Amino acid sequence: MQWFARRQSAPGGGARRVLAIGIDGVPYSFAMRQIAEGRMPNLARIFQAGTVRPLNSSWPFVSSVAWSSFMTGCNPGKHNIYGFVDRRLNTYDVFLPNSSTMKREPIWCELSKAGKEVVVMNVPVTYPPRQVNGLMVSCFLSPSLEKATYPKELAGRLQQMGYKIDADAAIARRNKDDFMKELHHVLERRAAVMFELMDSEPWDFFMSHIMETDRLHHFFWEYMENNDPYWAPQFYDFYEKVDTILGQVWERVDENTTLVILSDHGFCTVRKEVYLNTWLRENGWLSTEPAPGKPPSIASITPATRAYSMDPGRVFINLRGREPRGSVEPGADYERVRQQLSDELLELRDPDTGEKMVQRVYKREEIYHGENYQNAPDLVISPTTGYAFKGAMDREHLTYKGDVLIGEHTFDDALLYVSGHDIVKSTLTMEDVVPAVYNLMRVPQPDGLDGALVISA
Ligand SMILES: [Zn+2]
Repeated sequence: MQWFARRQSAPGGGARRVLAIGIDGVPYSFAMRQIAEGRMPNLARIFQAGTVRPLNSSWPFVSSVAWSSFMTGCNPGKHNIYGFVDRRLNTYDVFLPNSSTMKREPIWCELSKAGKEVVVMNVPVTYPPRQVNGLMVSCFLSPSLEKATYPKELAGRLQQMGYKIDADAAIARRNKDDFMKELHHVLERRAAVMFELMDSEPWDFFMSHIMETDRLHHFFWEYMENNDPYWAPQFYDFYEKVDTILGQVWERVDENTTLVILSDHGFCTVRKEVYLNTWLRENGWLSTEPAPGKPPSIASITPATRAYSMDPGRVFINLRGREPRGSVEPGADYERVRQQLSDELLELRDPDTGEKMVQRVYKREEIYHGENYQNAPDLVISPTTGYAFKGAMDREHLTYKGDVLIGEHTFDDALLYVSGHDIVKSTLTMEDVVPAVYNLMRVPQPDGLDGALVISA
């Protein structure tokens, strides 16, 4: 830890502490409705002491990308995290991007260099843990608790407190009652560790992330929306626990501390999962030759392929010189193929209802820019709300409606709250959060951030 500068100045001197809580996938509209219906009294109290606004997610709107944009203040073209899964350039190798894939420094590393003490818990894409001036507990990408902490010794302390990195989603596929219990258990342990570290460790910046809301939504959102007599009350009970925890957080916010609460995308009921690779295959865009006995996958793409898709609605042109068996020529050929595919995707319709499943198709240059632009997907689909685009290649049907995964992300309707300040920008992006944190902590922000300063003095 010797490379960190010594603390520049004691707390005070105009610099504030920042306490940030991530509540994964909690929609702005849902939080406001909870408050209006009197279900989250602590959150209501907290929101009255500051400003809360809707926040837009990232493209694509998955946790890995959105939280990377948050923590770096940059778009994916700079930070290089484009999905929960990705393929390595010049290969068809699929991998899970993590903190070593991230090419811009997260705010806690910058704050550490400025001599600030930080504690960071469970924020997505923080595995492997970075060396910080303080403590780090990594996210759901961690293979084990032993490998999830900086410093390493912290893992033992967490183990003793029964800390769990993530709820086990496999339980939900076996038994949703058991999964609800699991969610409560993981949230309780996370909160216990969070308050233990908050109260016992020195910090200028403390961030903890609640992932359980996202997990709850994926498996229970539709039940809540349909007011299911068995599950809806349990859904709200879970939020009562979240509200109690936020109340305990609020008790720890003194006049020298700014509380930031944010989520990373909205949520909606899944109308249908959409297996875009099925459509690409049936319409002559995609061809695979899997090894005998193996399902088709990206690794089995043939040169007859012009395009393939990965979660959620990212489309890659099979480009010569970039993809190993690429067939589309760069330049005019690429532009023509991409335009034709974009036009056809816009016309994709629900085979049962005829409804449009795609609202808009973005070209990479419309949403990404920066030094890692070459890794970007060529097209990104903005779906009609409720259509969940999937990257699996082994499905027979274009669409599917199941009863296990019944909640899905949305691009808009995430939320940002800042205590004691006005938020002065109307359309907020994930990249807009950390410039405010640097400003509050009186630490100069690094060059080249995409976000704007969105709070009043
Ligand atoms: Zn998320």
